[in-house]
Amino acid sequence: LLLAYDPARRLARTQVNVERALVNARMIYEILDLEPRQGDAPDAATLSVRQGEVRFEDVSFSYAAGQPVLHGVSFTAAPGRTTAIVGASGAGKSTLVALLQRFYDVDGGAITIDGQDVAAVTKQSLRRSIAYVSQQPYLFEGSIRDNIRYGRPDATDAEIELAARLAAADDFIRQQPQGYDTEIGENGATLSGGQRQRVSIARAMVRNAPILLLDEATSALDNESEARVQQALNEAMRGRTTIVIAHRLSTVVNADHIVVLDQGRVVEQGTHKGLMADPGSVYARFFRYQGDNGLGLVGDAADTDRT
Ligand code: ADP
Ligand code: MG
Repeated sequence: LLLAYDPARRLARTQVNVERALVNARMIYEILDLEPRQGDAPDAATLSVRQGEVRFEDVSFSYAAGQPVLHGVSFTAAPGRTTAIVGASGAGKSTLVALLQRFYDVDGGAITIDGQDVAAVTKQSLRRSIAYVSQQPYLFEGSIRDNIRYGRPDATDAEIELAARLAAADDFIRQQPQGYDTEIGENGATLSGGQRQRVSIARAMVRNAPILLLDEATSALDNESEARVQQALNEAMRGRTTIVIAHRLSTVVNADHIVVLDQGRVVEQGTHKGLMADPGSVYARFFRYQGDNGLGLVGDAADTDRT
């Protein structure tokens, strides 16, 4: 009986559900550290994050031979600052954050964190330093509590509930039949898109990592919860090195640094002000195209509407 309340055992049970539900979802295995040692060099070191500076140095990558997706991408995400990546759908934005987490290895160049090549450190130490909210949040069959706890398996219930409050998820969770212990169906089938996204943001919050990666993190939210979640994300971004693939104009405008990606190349980078100073810049043109329809060509939200 005691064993049934053992958190490790509970997680082990949930893990089976994850494996059943997501056999093909490579990324979720990796996020959940289910195969942490695979692909580590035998002499891999433990990543030690001090300032949290992230550098892409001449990074090239292709998913399939002969079809490069990134060409010599270089930029620096300054410690504790927010770097926004903008570019049309297919530009390679999500690929950048996948490479930083080593879901794939670069073909050329390097990605470093505080000068340590991510290819030379253990995936486990790398992933522990990063909280990631993906474009498509993956939830598994299990309780809401377990889904949030996956951000950090040793999180206490109080920490889980705090993270949920920060993610503006606490209210709707408490309204569920069993509150935090409510079982959600496969990939969160019983929740709305916005609720799933808030649970996945809570998962990232509970991780409490120095590097935060947000890939269109608020795209599935309705306006009201978006405003609340954005507030929470702003709080979470403070003091963390954040790379955000943004569909919200205000996120881009307020970023400390903006990287404009076009067909796998960095075509411009700078601040909003700096990039707008040249009316002919790609960024300024992106910006003008928006009209009343939100971000237009900047980011993926508009692409989702189009496809
Ligand atoms: P963005 O996030 O800017 O929309 P992505 O990084 O998702 O762009 O994609 C960049 C390019 O890589 C696109 O041409 C896309 O079709 C391709 N791509 C993305 N993921 C995969 C994958 N898992 N396998 C093969 N090609 C992919
Ligand atoms: Mg994307």
